[in-house]
Amino acid sequence: MTDPLTQLIHHPYQPPAGFAAPQPGVFKASTVIFPSVAAMRTRDWKTKSGYTYGLHGTPTTFVLEERIAALEGGLQTVLVPSGLAAIANVALALLQTGDEVLIPDNAYGPNKALAEGELAAFGISHAYYDPLSVADLAARITDRTKLVWLEAVGSVTMEFPDLIAQARLCRQRGVVSALDNTWGAGIAFNPFDLDGQGLGVDVSAHALTKYPSGGGDVLMGAVTTRDEALHLKLKLTHMRLGLGVGANDAEAVLRALPSIGLRYRAQDHAARELARWCSGQAAFAQVLHPALDDAPGHAAWQQVCGAADARGQGAAAGLFSVIVDARYPAAQVDAFCDALRLFKLGYSWGGPVSLVVPYDLASMRTQWPAHLARGTLVRFSLGLEAVADLQADLAQALAVALPI
Ligand SMILES: *Cc1c(COP(=O)(O)O)cnc(C)c1O
Repeated sequence: MTDPLTQLIHHPYQPPAGFAAPQPGVFKASTVIFPSVAAMRTRDWKTKSGYTYGLHGTPTTFVLEERIAALEGGLQTVLVPSGLAAIANVALALLQTGDEVLIPDNAYGPNKALAEGELAAFGISHAYYDPLSVADLAARITDRTKLVWLEAVGSVTMEFPDLIAQARLCRQRGVVSALDNTWGAGIAFNPFDLDGQGLGVDVSAHALTKYPSGGGDVLMGAVTTRDEALHLKLKLTHMRLGLGVGANDAEAVLRALPSIGLRYRAQDHAARELARWCSGQAAFAQVLHPALDDAPGHAAWQQVCGAADARGQGAAAGLFSVIVDARYPAAQVDAFCDALRLFKLGYSWGGPVSLVVPYDLASMRTQWPAHLARGTLVRFSLGLEAVADLQADLAQALAVALPI
């Protein structure tokens, strides 16, 4: 080996082992190098016992998987390129032609779109159930039901379902339950032990894009289980679909994870303060946040999330919605959102910037829920700005666009 350019590629230097620092190393690879053909033939990509190909894991992704599994109270995690990819990984691993999936009517919209698009095209049917009626869910489970999605809280409308009863029902009927755990984030409750007695869901899908990333700058998802056979099914589908994640994105999430508890609580407290303030504003017909006494599912929220805060106040993510009184036309609600200065117009949540999105609820539900006032819904997600500044921003936009 004399050519210095060859030396650059096959350089003999190895740094000393034993480097230790607060953050794990960032390993990047498509190719993984084996010491022998025997190693190449015998290494098992399905376990974390070694490395075979970048798509099947690196030290960086293994470490993140283990930390997400620990955060959520599970045993195994697979990482995928987005929260929506986590939902798709679950559906495609567990459903076949002729099966049916049940989805709450207040589910994250793209979960419904996947069922109506690809799943329907594959001959997999779906039905939407009332998230606030365990009896409705029970009545819809048939021999063909192979997966029940649960979501706490419901996207946009913030209802907290009776998760314990829903998980128990799925257990009793032998149907796999999968929770979209993005809102709880592994902080508000343990999805694998909802009642403190070990009753939980089978699968947790989590958009790491939100709280674990915390920056509004990474897309990633995770699918976590406690059951080895279920994990293997998810892992095989994950491999066949090629759902790998990039090392730099994994690094960003690893860097943000140690502060997830602090960020979650800060945004929780800010959201509750502003939700309470909004309850006193005449332009808003209803404020939707599970910690408010009259919120749909408030008792179920207390039961599952009540113990998660040291001060006994329960835990909730930094989100709430308002329904603007129906006397204001939708265009005026748009003007209110446009008038906000600190709350930026944008999707997602869990990052440093507070965000606002107006929603046309009528187009998102099979029917208008009886527990919701009529009017245009606006969802706020709290960033990390001072609450007084955010409240002043809401007040000035209300005065400009939604005068009493
Ligand atoms: C954001 C979100 C997702 C999807 O996450 P992406 O990474 O944006 O694909 C799924 N479920 C819920 C509840 C979400 O809020």
